[in-house]
Amino acid sequence: MTHSFIKVAAVTDHDTTRGCNSTRQLASAYPEILIIPGAEISTPQGDVVLLGAQEMPPQPWTVENVIDFARERDYVSIVAHPYREYGMGDVARNYKVDAIEVLNGGSSPSANKSARELARLMGLPGVGGSDAHQPAELCNVYTDIQASMDIDEILKAIRKGLVSVPPMGKSIHF
Ligand SMILES: [Zn+2]
Repeated sequence: MTHSFIKVAAVTDHDTTRGCNSTRQLASAYPEILIIPGAEISTPQGDVVLLGAQEMPPQPWTVENVIDFARERDYVSIVAHPYREYGMGDVARNYKVDAIEVLNGGSSPSANKSARELARLMGLPGVGGSDAHQPAELCNVYTDIQASMDIDEILKAIRKGLVSVPPMGKSIHF
């Protein structure tokens, strides 16, 4: 069995960046771990994850506003769990997001399969997200990213598609 080690985690609470900011303060004691700030924003069309953001976009949180906010600041916008509750579904095709969450730790295999197909149709990179709400759920899903340990480099690599998502349930650790 091969063991991979997770060195980077994105903290994306619902509709707030407070959690990621306090996590980053706590994580500063562990220089080998990098915390990517962000949030998962509830839009009327479905959830959008922003990576890189330390502050929330201005209201109203329409998909357009959230995506524009991300693009202007070089953050990454991701359609979260598109084929689950609060997911955008096929509507995502109308928006110029940066990536699709193709493997979500809380979605069914068929919902994840549809998400992968959506990414393929849109020609967008696919990323994995644990959707962890408890510590035990943290490492079930992850994304391999070809980048150095630098937030801007990681965000750039995601936009360029230098990412892959291993199947769920591989043995991984912090
Ligand atoms: Zn969500």
